[in-house]
Amino acid sequence: MDFDLSEEQQRWRDLAGEFARDAIRPRAEELDRRQEFPYDLVREMSRLGLMGLTIPREYGGSGGDFVSYCLAVEEISRADTSVGITLESQVSLGAGPIADFGSEEQKERFLRPIADGSRLWALGITEEHAGSDAAGVETTAELRDGRWVVNGSKKFITNSGTTITDGVTVLARTGTREDGRPETSTILVPQDTPGYTRGEPYVKTGWRAADQHPLYFEGCEVPEENLLGPRGAGLRQCLRTLEGGRIAVGALSVGLAQACLDEALSYAQRRCQFGRHLSEFQVIQFKLADMAMEIELARNMVLKAAWLKDRERPCAREASIAKVYASEVAKRCADQAVQIHGGEGFMEHTPVARYWRQVKINEIGEGTSEINRQIIARGLLQARSR
Ligand SMILES: Cc1cc2nc3c(=O)[nH]c(=O)nc-3n(C[C@H](O)[C@H](O)[C@H](O)COP(=O)(O)OP(=O)(O)OC[C@H]3O[C@@H](n4cnc5c(N)ncnc54)[C@H](O)[C@@H]3O)c2cc1C
Repeated sequence: MDFDLSEEQQRWRDLAGEFARDAIRPRAEELDRRQEFPYDLVREMSRLGLMGLTIPREYGGSGGDFVSYCLAVEEISRADTSVGITLESQVSLGAGPIADFGSEEQKERFLRPIADGSRLWALGITEEHAGSDAAGVETTAELRDGRWVVNGSKKFITNSGTTITDGVTVLARTGTREDGRPETSTILVPQDTPGYTRGEPYVKTGWRAADQHPLYFEGCEVPEENLLGPRGAGLRQCLRTLEGGRIAVGALSVGLAQACLDEALSYAQRRCQFGRHLSEFQVIQFKLADMAMEIELARNMVLKAAWLKDRERPCAREASIAKVYASEVAKRCADQAVQIHGGEGFMEHTPVARYWRQVKINEIGEGTSEINRQIIARGLLQARSR
């Protein structure tokens, strides 16, 4: 077994780490407070190649592997998870499906302009009545005279409403299968298409500098060739996309957990009580040791899942394990980091208070912990019955 990173992987990690430390971290508190999308940081990350990290070079991306991407997401999220999720949503959810399932013509038309992340693209699966149950989407796309007519709405869609967003991939119901189940397909809808509008941005507990909106489609028409991949493959494509997304959200969680440990360690070495630094009390040392242990395990799991994905090996189970474990480790770390800060940790000005608010979403977005545990359990049961 080789645990060494390649030179290329180390290069991406160091590049992202340096940028996160110098450019993102000093702005994280302000971005969160003002709930401002960081256009300048995204522009710079695009220039550095981070916003198109796994997108093939031939279309204008960086052509990096998935391990490099996860290392970069971890480093960026260590500084701020709003920026981390903006990067993850662009690479995994926005550009990823077009790179994976698009025709040559679609890649030229839709992927090339967004491949370096200077322009963004979103993925719209979630709806009012279809969250965990993505197969239950009610948005419809009907083929009429060579054009898809989309009607319905989407909810919570990341990167959908910035001034640099080019469009959204919509999971829609396109018919009924012979067995009576819905047929779903994905349709590429450019931002300026008549009949497609975005609602007001959400006011959120975390990821406050990231962009999320509800989307509305009313008689929204796009050409027939905007169907992504084969008709009826929509749900399968989305589940495959979420597989990679879960590994990357695992990496984001590891970054946030590491930030919690960084802050807790530094505070424990500064704060004195009973004439000693907190770091001299064994109870505090054990808390720090537990955080370090769990982060190490979570990071290893994320990287193993990413390594499998790079080899195009099955990784649904590993992706779910990485996502559930890393997001729950991050939550425990945020909790302990606040505890080590005492009353100071409850004050909005401390980074750990922000981390504690931000951490919860990791157990919800791109598949809740319950749904990921179902995937892991299903794998166990299937293995038993073989
Ligand atoms: C900030 C943010 C950004 C997001 N970005 C995007 C995006 O870019 N694109 C997109 O399409 N979506 C996005 N989402 C949506 C996100 O993926 C969903 O919120 C998530 O999948 C859960 O769906 P839900 O919120 O409808 O919860 P529900 O599905 O209603 O679940 C509610 C609770 O019930 C549990 N539950 C549901 N079904 C079962 C079951 N069968 N067994 C046991 N428990 C169950 C869930 O685990 C959860 O605890 C985003 C959400 C947020 C908050």
